[in-house]
Amino acid sequence: MKIIKNKLERNRENKNGKFVINIDVQGAWNAVLLVFAFWLLFPVFGFSQENISIIPRPVNLERKAGTFILDESTGYRNSTDSGINLAVNLLSLECARRSGIELLNSVKPSKFISFSIAPNAVPEREGYALSITSAGITLKAADEVGLIHGVQTILQLLPAFRTNEAVQLPCVEIYDFPRFPYRGMHLDVSRHFYPPELIKDYIDLISYYKMNTFHWHLIDDQGWRIEIKKYPKLTDVGAWRVDRSNLPWDSRQPQQPGEKATYGGYYTQNQIREIVEYATARGVTIIPEIEMPAHVESAIAAYPELSCIKKPQTVLTGGIYPPDFQTSYCAGDEHVFAFLQDVLMEVMQLFPSNYIHIGGDELDKSFWKECPACNKRMKDEGLHNVDELQSYFIRRIEQFIQSKGRRIIGWDEILEGGLAPDATVMSWRGESGGIAAAEMGHDAIMTPGTPLYLNHYQAGPAGEPLANGGFNTLKMVYDYNPVPSALKPEAARHILGAQGNLWGEFIQTRSHVEYMVLPRMAALAEVVWSPATQKDYADFSKRLDSHFRYYEGRGFNYCKGNYTVDIRPISDKGRLSVELTTEVPGCSIHYTTDGTMPGPESPEYTMPIPVSGSCILHAVTVQGGKVMNLIPATQTFEFHSAIGGSVKYEFPYSNSYKAEGPNILTDGIRGTGNIHKYWHGFLGKDLIATITLPKPLEVRNLSLSCMQHYRDWIFLPTKVDYEVSQDGIHFVGVGSVTNNIPVNETQQTIKEFSLKLKPIMARYVRVKAHILPGAPKGHPGEGNPVWIFADEFKVN
Ligand SMILES: [Zn+2]
Repeated sequence: MKIIKNKLERNRENKNGKFVINIDVQGAWNAVLLVFAFWLLFPVFGFSQENISIIPRPVNLERKAGTFILDESTGYRNSTDSGINLAVNLLSLECARRSGIELLNSVKPSKFISFSIAPNAVPEREGYALSITSAGITLKAADEVGLIHGVQTILQLLPAFRTNEAVQLPCVEIYDFPRFPYRGMHLDVSRHFYPPELIKDYIDLISYYKMNTFHWHLIDDQGWRIEIKKYPKLTDVGAWRVDRSNLPWDSRQPQQPGEKATYGGYYTQNQIREIVEYATARGVTIIPEIEMPAHVESAIAAYPELSCIKKPQTVLTGGIYPPDFQTSYCAGDEHVFAFLQDVLMEVMQLFPSNYIHIGGDELDKSFWKECPACNKRMKDEGLHNVDELQSYFIRRIEQFIQSKGRRIIGWDEILEGGLAPDATVMSWRGESGGIAAAEMGHDAIMTPGTPLYLNHYQAGPAGEPLANGGFNTLKMVYDYNPVPSALKPEAARHILGAQGNLWGEFIQTRSHVEYMVLPRMAALAEVVWSPATQKDYADFSKRLDSHFRYYEGRGFNYCKGNYTVDIRPISDKGRLSVELTTEVPGCSIHYTTDGTMPGPESPEYTMPIPVSGSCILHAVTVQGGKVMNLIPATQTFEFHSAIGGSVKYEFPYSNSYKAEGPNILTDGIRGTGNIHKYWHGFLGKDLIATITLPKPLEVRNLSLSCMQHYRDWIFLPTKVDYEVSQDGIHFVGVGSVTNNIPVNETQQTIKEFSLKLKPIMARYVRVKAHILPGAPKGHPGEGNPVWIFADEFKVN
């Protein structure tokens, strides 16, 4: 218990959350002499004093004087304790790969690495204590996985690039353990099949960042990716689809008669066993996700009899869901449960994880409502509605999985109709599902779309690869706290941790996968590992630099979107200005407004820039005299007479789509394809706005611009009415513009509702955009409330 006491004392002394660095001066001087002597004898690579860049940041790190030289004479002490083998093997393997040095396994070395499992010295689960002195390295841990985390810390002290020379490690004392027991990364391999080598690299990264769970999303409508011996058609048929890679995801029509399904792939059971072993060797548990009862078009295509409608269907090729396709299992048919139990038996034989993820999300229950078998089931079981039928389905599967000694996790929809008794909830539609589960005494894992969907944009969107919406920057991920402040302490302890999700729709290649998770995964690692009180974004940013070098050393693609300048308009009191920011502390921002490319010599941004006419703003981040962006951030300002005007809405815009503030309709900035930037969204209500113009003027043109985005339930208003006033009390109607874009237009479309009028004096304008009364026929949300999205209101 001694170490704990010391740790607490150290924490108390260091409330500011900085690393504790103790250097004894005499010792340091001796070390300098020693190192200098070594330099004369051997070239030694590694480490300079400043760049201990461990991510996630350890709970306690003390820099000591001196270094340990890792070279061909370094060995590890043999131990009879088999619990250390994984860690020893990992260190030997990675050391050889990263430095070319083969560690000796049977020596009487003066320089040694010693491993031990010592729960008395390190009581925290997965915790470790690492001591590096000039004589040796001692690693103690609470358990096997703790040793692996300790090894990853040692590996993070190695140079980023392979040197084939002796390596210098700093002398340190580290005491470290995780904040949360669940630290996960998810990968969707259904939308695109990724080869086993990619999966192994992904697991490497999970382990490198001391996360402990890989959530493997193996099944969805566009592909079944796991071999099941008893049902070979699941992969013979379900793993393949017609190749429509040349079309946007949302325009990929279903397979036509005569077309061959050639695009896809799956993991054989042997490959899966090898991957599970690979993960275990790195302290990572794999949780397989076997989706049910929905998102299983790939299974229905193979075995149509598992659906309610029992007619032939094909594996989906992309984001188009034909209305007559049922992408879910029948809940009334006993064969479905027998099938799922067989599948789960094979799955549980492959994956030793305590948890099995059973999906449970986004079920279209309309087929169940119509199905005689499902209705009979509801009657026989005394179920009142299809929500309770979904709950019945999940409970029954839970019972089966529990009978094999395992537990279930499901997406937050499994709360609907009553939660299964022992289920853990993964909260993805915001945090409310996780909060509800925790308050009911169930465990929950936080993975809200904002900010933990790593398939969303991390910068731009200009200059970034096409993403399915969202905007989750590196800093947003870093600032996330998995424990909502609303939660009482007794409920808060049910939050097991958090997870980053990577949905694959738009992510077809290895380098794109890497780009989306790096470096946001590093930020998330610190969220779930390091104590909340010690989080420090500026410090993280500094440490990240050496991780960029590591990615380069491994040949990984990564995103430097944190260097992208964010352009934020401020429309206030009749004036427009722009604020420029970057997420990398200590850089300068330089800009131009004349259309030329900015460089270090361009004006430096110091305060919001006033905008008084149409212009193109370009801005770059400069660090150490170098421009850090491949392309500058760019914004076109279309000047018009309403710019700087104040906007009052009759019904407020949604909190989820509040853009840069209240006056984005009059900021001169046009929205882009990314619905999270520069757009106000209104759900189920007309957009009614009164705009106070900066000054009275003769009005000739009025124009509101709106978006249609069929897949996201955003529709153009049916009609826009305009009224003007001189006093803000008496308004006169000046005309209307009717929508001429079809409601079933699926391509994202922006329309200007422009009205030319006879010149008329006005100080106030009232705009009324009439919302479509409900999602149109054939839309997945038919009859439900839809959105209006607007980005700018122009007056000329
Ligand atoms: Zn049915």
